[in-house]
Amino acid sequence: MSETFFGPDFQALQGQDPEIAAILISELDRQRENLQLIASENFTSPAVLAALGSTLSNKYAEGYPGKRYYGGCEEVDKAEVIGIARAKELFGAEHANLQPHSGASANVAIYQAFTKPGDTVLAMSLPHGGHLTHGSKVNFSGKWFNVESYGVRQDNELIDYDELRDIALRVKPKMICSGATAYPSLIDFKTVRSICDEVGAIMWVDAAHFIGLVAGKAIPSPVEYADVVSFTTHKVLRGPRGGMILSKAAHASAIDKAIFPGMQGGPIMSAVAAKAIALKECATAQYQAYAKEVIVNAKALAKSLEDEGMRAVSGGTETHLALIDIRSTGVNGKVADERCGRAGISLNKNAIPYDPESPAVTSGIRVGTPAVTTQGMGSEQMPVIASLIARAIKDGEDEAKIAQIRKEVNALTAKFPVYPA
Ligand code: PLP
Repeated sequence: MSETFFGPDFQALQGQDPEIAAILISELDRQRENLQLIASENFTSPAVLAALGSTLSNKYAEGYPGKRYYGGCEEVDKAEVIGIARAKELFGAEHANLQPHSGASANVAIYQAFTKPGDTVLAMSLPHGGHLTHGSKVNFSGKWFNVESYGVRQDNELIDYDELRDIALRVKPKMICSGATAYPSLIDFKTVRSICDEVGAIMWVDAAHFIGLVAGKAIPSPVEYADVVSFTTHKVLRGPRGGMILSKAAHASAIDKAIFPGMQGGPIMSAVAAKAIALKECATAQYQAYAKEVIVNAKALAKSLEDEGMRAVSGGTETHLALIDIRSTGVNGKVADERCGRAGISLNKNAIPYDPESPAVTSGIRVGTPAVTTQGMGSEQMPVIASLIARAIKDGEDEAKIAQIRKEVNALTAKFPVYPA
């Protein structure tokens, strides 16, 4: 069955390179059979996969449509022009750049467009949910910039906007970043804009996680408030692996120059075309219904995990992901992640705010519903998934019990086939 998904070229690959062909098949089987609860993953459409596997991959196209440094770009130019128009239309943005190879690459370009090494930037603290590119000491951002951090309040685990403003007034950042990797609540972009205006900072929103919910009109958009919005295209948005930047028209030239020639060479034109396809998919009524259902499912999953005796950080979720404090189980995040993995449940360990454990161990797990919702699972399945997670965490030392949970995971996913042949 798996071979047929890949189409006629696959037989040639099997003959030429059986080792890699076997990996393509077993990864497809893993995605089909296991429960995919990693909040940043999804099942992209066969149309997006077709563009990624196309001959557009062969084309060098340094520059922008109509201003390339290579000949023969007339066909790929059309794809990029269509993609830019779709992005501007979908998000109501004045400018769009589809070339960033990834979310991290988009963020490198943003630092480059608006700051100089040594400048002060204010971003969400990593232990409270920020991303590596928001100032980690092992990342270019923390090495080359003075990144100051704000966090969440201890009592309600929500962003402390008073603290954010106080820090901004004190450190006078060139740029303030909002957006995170593990923050289950909505962000008050209007308040962030007013703080940016008060201190004269660029407002940068790293919307990597939630942009798909914005595209589906399921949550408010940061685009009208922000100077610049960066994001990944492969999470809830359900496009190819890659990045994108939206900005006000005044920043268009700085952004484009920061991507090329600032920090990338040729764009990956197969990915640019795939981004255009995903943007068209996002404009449909089906996708809007999907984005809303992702949130309904995430709320139901968080509630069901609470019913299993765990605690949802900040009391639940308003997005596609929930952060779960699992200290009540007596098991840490690292062990829970490993036990769920053996039971066929993919999720990740995650620090909770004010976590007493180290980042390598953690007291929590992060779960997300973009992939299971694409599969067609709904609120009926969320308590079942929560119970499977709770049993895997509790019974993880018992191989027979883990094997039984794995069987139940496989039976559940078989009812919601991914990439049916
Ligand atoms: N920004 C945020 C908030 C993210 O969550 C991520 C990835 O998870 C990134 C940036 C980086 O994206 P990529 O892995 O595509 O470089």
